[in-house]
Amino acid sequence: MKVLKFGGTSVGSPQRMKDVCKLICEDGEQKLVVLSAMSGTTNTLVEISKCYQSGDKAGAAALIDKLKQLYSQHIANLYGTSPYKQNVQKFADGKFEYLLSFANAPFTEANEKEILAQGELISTFMVTSYLCEKGVKAALLPALDFMRIDGNSEPDMNFICENAPKFIDKESDIQIYITQGFICRNAKGGIDNLQRGGSDYTASIIGAAIHAEEIQIWTDIDGMHNNDPRVVKNTRPVRHLLFEEAAELAYFGAKILHPTCIQPAKTAGIPVRLLNTMEPTAPGTLINNEAESGSIKAVAAKDNITAINIKSSRMLLAYGFLRRIFEIFEKYKTPIDMICTSEVGVSMSIDNPQNLDLIVRELQEFGTVTVDSDMCIICVVGDMKWNNVGFESRALDALSDIPVHMISYGGSNYNISFLVKEEDKKRALQRLSDKLFKK
Ligand code: ADP
Ligand code: ASP
Ligand code: MG
Repeated sequence: MKVLKFGGTSVGSPQRMKDVCKLICEDGEQKLVVLSAMSGTTNTLVEISKCYQSGDKAGAAALIDKLKQLYSQHIANLYGTSPYKQNVQKFADGKFEYLLSFANAPFTEANEKEILAQGELISTFMVTSYLCEKGVKAALLPALDFMRIDGNSEPDMNFICENAPKFIDKESDIQIYITQGFICRNAKGGIDNLQRGGSDYTASIIGAAIHAEEIQIWTDIDGMHNNDPRVVKNTRPVRHLLFEEAAELAYFGAKILHPTCIQPAKTAGIPVRLLNTMEPTAPGTLINNEAESGSIKAVAAKDNITAINIKSSRMLLAYGFLRRIFEIFEKYKTPIDMICTSEVGVSMSIDNPQNLDLIVRELQEFGTVTVDSDMCIICVVGDMKWNNVGFESRALDALSDIPVHMISYGGSNYNISFLVKEEDKKRALQRLSDKLFKK
């Protein structure tokens, strides 16, 4: 059985929903389909939560009303028969009433998660109902009954692997199982989510839990491109990636994949295919365990990076110095992305500056600390084994007139990363594309 995930744009209008239904029914094979909310919905739900948080009940009501009008139009356009129109309208109205009910009590963090979950609950109900109206044997699986995260917000794989398969009967005549991406329950049983963009992660986790034959991520572009198509001109799809290469690209900013979504598929050895809903016959990108040596595959960039630099003569010939520094980051639950060391200093980059002031204050005990904000990590991914000569110099050469704060190479076989100023990002990405991928 395959798991297919369709993102927000793929189900972003009644016509798109119809196209997706055609696409998933065509081959007659049984499959499990993970859906995001219709595009824009989760952003609006975030706005609604913000209104409630700031006490702006009228603002929340206005946004809910706008969403309600939009969905009423979608529902009117999607279904051909009144019983289906009425039933889905009733379901959606129930959700909008629910969103309005948060005006009646003090707003909590848990309420925000409950609000964010409504987009996927509505989109999956809409698509399942449409399939049923068309006479397709379809079943809606409640993700909240089998998707769970633990106390550290990590997927509770034991629970999911035990429970997700119970909802699927491979012998039944159900052709399409539909479920919600993104949403889950937490260790306390409350509604939660896998972070923004997390539907990819849902697909990968479920794929691993049901031993899927393949996980397909369907989106609005023909696979992973060799550079960010939002920033750089003339990018091209990469036909094949190793799991590790895809994970580096996703982590370092290739938005087509959620950063964590490769891990479950890799651990379970299930191939992942990135495909284009707007062009279903395009080959897309296949991600698996088969190494292809000797090429640079793609470039990605991660914004909003802060560099922290410590200069200290006490580092000279000392041991335990780095451990004490890392402990400070651990204490403030702040992951380090890049690190470069010399005998008299160490520079690190972080993407979460929430506790920056506290971290800097504690680091000052070790030496002089400086901070550079508005930085960006540029990550070049491919077969970068240290004994392959020339790859790193080609990347460096492309950046010859761009100030580079840090370079990280040799930590894995798959990447070389550069820390540059955010204002130089576009130029750096374009230079790398021109130098590394020009035919
Ligand atoms: P979905 O809503 O289907 O999850 P996303 O918007 O999350 O879709 O991801 C698809 C988008 O990712 C593309 O439209 C593209 O603009 C962006 N993107 C960024 N980097 C890359 C890349 N290297 N290759 C392909 N797409 C990329
Ligand atoms: N709907 C959620 C979001 O917009 C999850 C997803 O689409 O992957 O972040
Ligand atoms: Mg996405």
